[in-house]
Amino acid sequence: MLGGTSEARALALDLHGRPGLRVISSLAGRVSRPALPAGQVRVGGFGGADGLAAWAQAEGVRAVVDATHPFAQTISANAADACARTGLPLLRLARPAWTARPGDDWRPAGSLDEAAGLLRRGALWSRVFLTSGRQGLSVFAPIEELWFLIRCVDPPSGPMPARREVLLARGPYAREAERALMQRFGIDVLVTKNSGGPLTEGKLDAARDLGLPVVMVSRPAPAPGVASVADVGGAVGWVLARAPRPGPAPAGSGAG
Ligand code: NAP
Repeated sequence: MLGGTSEARALALDLHGRPGLRVISSLAGRVSRPALPAGQVRVGGFGGADGLAAWAQAEGVRAVVDATHPFAQTISANAADACARTGLPLLRLARPAWTARPGDDWRPAGSLDEAAGLLRRGALWSRVFLTSGRQGLSVFAPIEELWFLIRCVDPPSGPMPARREVLLARGPYAREAERALMQRFGIDVLVTKNSGGPLTEGKLDAARDLGLPVVMVSRPAPAPGVASVADVGGAVGWVLARAPRPGPAPAGSGAG
């Protein structure tokens, strides 16, 4: 299982200890003190699709669930490539995207670059709440005219906006706390990736409460031709359908 998400942890917890199954969760190793899934865990990159295919064969992997974050595009493409080459069944588990509700003022962006362009053109905005994560901050670095509240799990490095405050925090985030945070920092626009899921959607409710616009970065296209499910239950069913069935009890072993 390729992980790094709450869904991956829930799937590992459900499958761990089931007879006939050995579940190995793989984490990229990006964040310090990651929440660890139940069962066996390995950490670090594989070395591209070749490395992933070789590792899976060495470990006797029989099926792969890609439960990585919807924006983790490279590892998903590598999984599709490695599984196609080795003939391994692959399932994509990706939580549904958020959809706008009445009262939302979403400004769609196809990428972080597009989001940065929208900010520069939004002449009325001056204070940005940027929640798109540590990676990709460099595209906002040239924006000198706006102030940023940058929230991430671990301290960011590399180019980032000069006028900023960095807030280190790990979700989940509740609606009321998000609203209070946006008010305290005088935020007038929120920037987020469309990650989906309940753990971080409090910021969307808060933005709606406050009448703030949201620059919503849409997801990258999924790897073509890969079966997918949107919930953990669907992934459990998919795995169990491929798990070896316990063999019949040996003759004479029944209660006598
Ligand atoms: P990415 O751009 O798709 O992947 C970059 C490289 O990181 C991959 O080529 C692979 O290295 C390694 N990698 C990524 N996920 C891995 C995993 N589960 N196990 C082993 N190696 C992995 O990924 P990313 O966007 O940096 O995300 C990294 C991890 O953080 C993912 O596991 C994802 O679920 C989690 N995450 C991402 C985001 C996000 O917004 N992107 C948000 C929350 C959590 P090799 O080529 O060497 O194998």
